[in-house]
Amino acid sequence: MKIRSQVSMVFHLDKCIGCHTCSIACKNIWTDRQGAEYMWWNNVETKPGVGFPTQWEDQEKYKGGWELKNGKPHLKLQNRVEALGNLFSNPALPTMDDYYEPWTYKYGDLFNSPLGDDQPTARPISRIDGKPIEIESGPNWDDDLGGSNIYAVNDPLLENMTDEEKQRLFSIEQLFYFYMPRICNHCLNAGCVAACPSGAIYKRAEDGIVLINQDKCRGWRMCVSACPYKKTYYNWSTGKSEKCILCYPRLETGQAPACFHSCVGRIRYLGVLLYDADQIEAAVKVSDEQLVQRQREMILDPFDPKVVAAAKESGIPDGVITAAQRSPVYRYVKEWELALPLHPEYRTLPMLFYVPPLLPVLSASQESGTQRVENDLFSSLENARVPVRYMSRMLAAGNDELVTKAYQKMIAVRIYKRAETVGDVTADEANAALAKVGMSAEEAEAIYRLTSLPNYQERFVIPPTGREGDIEEVHDPQQRKAETGFGRRQSPHRGL
Ligand code: SF4
Ligand code: SF4
Repeated sequence: MKIRSQVSMVFHLDKCIGCHTCSIACKNIWTDRQGAEYMWWNNVETKPGVGFPTQWEDQEKYKGGWELKNGKPHLKLQNRVEALGNLFSNPALPTMDDYYEPWTYKYGDLFNSPLGDDQPTARPISRIDGKPIEIESGPNWDDDLGGSNIYAVNDPLLENMTDEEKQRLFSIEQLFYFYMPRICNHCLNAGCVAACPSGAIYKRAEDGIVLINQDKCRGWRMCVSACPYKKTYYNWSTGKSEKCILCYPRLETGQAPACFHSCVGRIRYLGVLLYDADQIEAAVKVSDEQLVQRQREMILDPFDPKVVAAAKESGIPDGVITAAQRSPVYRYVKEWELALPLHPEYRTLPMLFYVPPLLPVLSASQESGTQRVENDLFSSLENARVPVRYMSRMLAAGNDELVTKAYQKMIAVRIYKRAETVGDVTADEANAALAKVGMSAEEAEAIYRLTSLPNYQERFVIPPTGREGDIEEVHDPQQRKAETGFGRRQSPHRGL
């Protein structure tokens, strides 16, 4: 067992209000620069919708992530031999149209226009060439038309859904959408790391944050294609690629990343997970149906004395182990099984997990008058306004059972709290609901508290970080490849 620690995240989608404060906090700190105008290391999408860049989930078009060939994971983009042939013409890159042409406004015109009969206006101008432009798209373009069949119908996830399911999604009286904030997932089997011909991208030893060494980057942009989430970006001014750095300078001083810190809905949780690096290869070789379960199995119980001893042996400091024991991410992902990885079928083992949005499920069940435990837990999900299949394609590689189970637990918690606070459900009904999903009252209370009432310290359990000099790189790329079969760099930390 080779234990590593990873700073991981949970986003609770029920709580996101789509205010984009997170995106602006990130933009102000990191990407308000020449060449980075179009970059949104943090963006918030509207689902159903096409996202940013447009239809990023269509891997037939963008060739991101991994696929199994003869039972082994291969980059969908190309192998290394093909990569050499395509160095100068990568055909799977998003274009400016897929992102958008960044713009600003001629604010000066508001102040400097000569006196006249008309009100001066600030016309939009391109931030690339400074010429006037017609704005036709933007990073959150779905917002205005979110959920409608005018725009959202192009969502790649709708492919293969039945007419009846689509009808339910686009029924105009019940039009529904939810917000989907996205940042880099700091994956364990990152496509960007494996695809980089310069070896410029690496996973940081002490906490698993994926970074691009700007001195080594040669701007080949293979990472842009190979990341199925489109979370690396090419800076046209510097000629290098860039990506979310999880605000590591903030983490190193005990502060949450800016997008987490500023989140108005308090939807974001951050904490350490301990995992067994020896299981990475096996975890990405399984069938789609089993991917989430295998990823969960890799995550180790930080209270297990054997795990603690092995973690110490692997050089993980006591402070990080203690942080792992207090991790809200561990609770949501492993203990409660409520949070799921985004598109696990890309096989990058993303370490950002999402609690699926429940609200529309319940409101649909109420409209049909089903209030009792049996109906709320089971029938309501069959008639949910967002078909479970839509969510399972997004968060469970099509495994409906995992999403259903998470929803049932969340509904059971609601029934339990309703009995306590509203009183239209009896205590017996509430206990029956908990029993149906195998949950104790203590667990229901803990889920409720961490979801609804967590303070800053409960949402963000930031591990102590050591100085650069304390971290030894004990595996070179060849050694790591020999050990794991793939991946470029990952090393245990020492003596933090
Ligand atoms: S999401 Fe994963 S593959 Fe994409 S940039 Fe982040 S670590 Fe790399
Ligand atoms: S700041 Fe929080 S609530 Fe607002 S859009 Fe971002 S993730 Fe959602």
